[in-house]
Amino acid sequence: MKFNIPDGARHILQTLNGAGHEAYLVGGCVRDLLRGVEPHDWDICTSARPEETERCFAGRRIVETGLKHGTVTVLVEGEPYEITTYRTEGPYSDSRRPDYVRFVPDLEEDLARRDFTMNAIAMDPQGDLRDPFGGAKDISSGLIRCVGRPDRRFQEDGLRVMRALRFAAVFGYAVEGRTAQAVHENRAVLDRVAAERINAELRKLLVGKGAGDVLRQYPDVFCQFWPQLGPLVALEQNNPWHCWGGWEHTIRALEAAPADVTLRLAMLLHDIGKPACKSTDEAGIDHFCGHSAVGAQLTDRMLRALKFDNRTRERVVLLVERHDVQIPDREHSIRKWLGRLGPEAFFQLLEVKRADGMGQDLEKVRCRLDELDEIGAKAEQILAERQCLTLKDLAVDGRDVIAAGVKPGPEVGRILDGALGQVLNGEAPNERSALLHWIARSQNRERK
Ligand code: ATP
Ligand code: MG
Repeated sequence: MKFNIPDGARHILQTLNGAGHEAYLVGGCVRDLLRGVEPHDWDICTSARPEETERCFAGRRIVETGLKHGTVTVLVEGEPYEITTYRTEGPYSDSRRPDYVRFVPDLEEDLARRDFTMNAIAMDPQGDLRDPFGGAKDISSGLIRCVGRPDRRFQEDGLRVMRALRFAAVFGYAVEGRTAQAVHENRAVLDRVAAERINAELRKLLVGKGAGDVLRQYPDVFCQFWPQLGPLVALEQNNPWHCWGGWEHTIRALEAAPADVTLRLAMLLHDIGKPACKSTDEAGIDHFCGHSAVGAQLTDRMLRALKFDNRTRERVVLLVERHDVQIPDREHSIRKWLGRLGPEAFFQLLEVKRADGMGQDLEKVRCRLDELDEIGAKAEQILAERQCLTLKDLAVDGRDVIAAGVKPGPEVGRILDGALGQVLNGEAPNERSALLHWIARSQNRERK
């Protein structure tokens, strides 16, 4: 046996074969086996009609949701396996399934409808391949190549443009020349693709190891669904901190960030406000005053347009808005920012600032990067010591303020904020008696 095929999949292939039908593993799982990567699901294609497939697995749990399109899902030992009748298909206007399918008798016709050669390989239970389009060779040379004429294939289904770039980014593969040219030339098909589908591909793409190179080579594709990127792609910045233009800086910063969707989006968009804020002084130096706030607004619009979930959107907007704040390397400032942002966003902001620095002239920013490490270490310490960071942690609450003679109302909140400020600044310990004392004194000051 050449490949590690799970017993459940082998059982399905053999059961179908035993009933006189052809059956193969196909698509992503075959591709991943050939890449030496553990497949995450096992798709099977067969010459059997759906009702024949169902008959073969009569004793098992069967899910019929894909039946109209020829897919029967069979559960073997709790694992779902999708078994699909050989078919050709129409366009995917509902975003998930083709509008119509036609069952065909021949495996090769089924493989021909698939997008890329690496996804159009079938494997029998012995591990032997049916590979009419040379997919195995393309996998070993790390190439993404359309099955058939690239421009026609992209016109049939615009999502394939994003899938090509997603696979390129995730696997670190190159897009074959004619396919690459067709990606550029047919990028406008993305206008017809649902935002949610672009979103799903973009998330995977951005955390891929080759994301930077894909952004470098295909800015026009990204501008197709996010035209706001256009001015950033073209941005020149003559500024002593920067040795790169706006786009190359953005890409280097993104590459330096951990492979996390929120952080990668924050890096992609952190300077999106710069083009609108650019001014050049008498010495010819470019400045970008206010670009974080402008960028945060643009980011919000762009993420909404692509239907990002609220949580991701709000966090990315926050990180773009704050990416340029100075956090002094002093305990009380660190406490303040930890309290204001919460630990999760605080550490994300440090990652954003570090990645931003990595995209600049490294010699010049090295000590800023060291400082960020120190700030991170101090913040860890503060958290480990469970120091007071927010009103919730404060040793007094509203009842104490009211007991000190303050009328219930907004004044109570102001006094608590004042007490928290004292603690954050290190001017008062977070102890009940000390804070009650401070409250009483501030009340006296008020009265005078
Ligand atoms: P992943 O690892 O992301 O699951 P995959 O290639 O398995 O990658 P799926 O969306 O699960 O992607 O699709 C399974 C198979 O169906 C693909 O390998 C490919 O053969 C075919 N396929 C999927 N989407 C398309 C498409 N838009 N156009 C043509 N063929 C497609
Ligand atoms: Mg898959």
